[in-house]
Amino acid sequence: MKNIVLFGPPGAGKGTQAEKIKEKYDLFHISTGDVFRYNIKNNTKLGVLAKQYMDKGDLVPDQVTIDMLSDVVEKNISVNGFIFDGFPRTQSQAEALDKLLTKFNTSISGMVALEVDDEILINRLLERGKVSGRADDSNSLIIKNRIKEYYSKTAILKTFYQRKNCYFGVDGVGGIEEITSRITNVINNL
Ligand code: AMP
Repeated sequence: MKNIVLFGPPGAGKGTQAEKIKEKYDLFHISTGDVFRYNIKNNTKLGVLAKQYMDKGDLVPDQVTIDMLSDVVEKNISVNGFIFDGFPRTQSQAEALDKLLTKFNTSISGMVALEVDDEILINRLLERGKVSGRADDSNSLIIKNRIKEYYSKTAILKTFYQRKNCYFGVDGVGGIEEITSRITNVINNL
């Protein structure tokens, strides 16, 4: 199995690139943000809970996120591989993911990190907010909090995957196709 973590701050382009990569390598794409948004739209118990955090730009608690992710992975374990988009976002999530994949005799092949400066991120998110209708993309205070959450809880995962020799940084600024080709150069060598 080829299991890729697509990593980077909010607005780095993970969702856009995940769509391209999943087609190219026939991977199953899991975006925890998308699963939460689906649950919010359908007014499920999980959605009501997650919304309280997402509306502020805070991370949803680890156990809630891990349980949801594990459920999706277990239900789809017979696929070629997974592309994780927006997960893991904390050290406990990364540890839980390792444990989960080990249970199925597989592991993370690589973390591909999209590197983009904060200034560009804020502008991209505000632009996306105009069309996506996402409340958390439309307010610069919420955006700044999401970026703060990223630096305080998520950015440390770079070291976590570097220690396993599977961290690969990619320049996330440029045309969509150009960035896809940088990512595929990494994945082809995994
Ligand atoms: P995203 O679509 O990845 O930008 O995520 C949107 C929001 O969903 C985040 O700001 C968090 O509130 C929540 N979320 C998504 N993935 C996670 C995760 N792995 N851990 C905790 N919260 C998450």
